Amino acid sequence: VWFDFNQVIKETMDDLKHTTQKHTLIEKFTETGKIYSDKDRISQVITNLITNAIKYSPHTDKIIVSTRLEGHEAIVCVQDFGIGIPEDKKDKVFEQFYRVSGNKQHTFPGLGLGLYISSEIVKREGGRMWVNSIEGKGATFCFALPVNDGTN
Ligand code: ATP
Ligand code: MG
Repeated sequence: VWFDFNQVIKETMDDLKHTTQKHTLIEKFTETGKIYSDKDRISQVITNLITNAIKYSPHTDKIIVSTRLEGHEAIVCVQDFGIGIPEDKKDKVFEQFYRVSGNKQHTFPGLGLGLYISSEIVKREGGRMWVNSIEGKGATFCFALPVNDGTN
């Protein structure tokens, strides 16, 4: 269906605000307009990224969710200031059942499926997903979806 990208992200954030007392979810939206995609699946992807941001930043409180329009893509990024991801593991986190092992990360519960499922959903909707991170400083997960504005 057609839906307002920012609005669905905002609704998903509102649902998740109640799951954490510690973290503050901050909106930094710019106008992205409507996109044609699977609304519930896209909401699920945002949920996965925000729950990860909460889980992997136990000692910091800020989580920034930003949106922008870039060329023919609507982009959303979820930034946290938590444990981050080692440079050589950045691609691996999207693999099925992969979890970063190490002194800190294995203490967080999980199956290693959230990002795999999320990236598969985004791919199926014609988009792409990536991560920027500095280990120990935080991670920024983004995905881009095509805006079907009739010119592309
Ligand atoms: P679940 O299946 O419940 O989502 P999970 O959170 O371990 O379990 P993924 O969401 O797929 O699985 O994430 C895979 C791995 O990537 C995590 O185990 C963690 O090591 C790393 N990771 C994911 N998000 C972050 C983040 N925001 N900061 C740091 N590491 C992260
Ligand atoms: Mg997860």
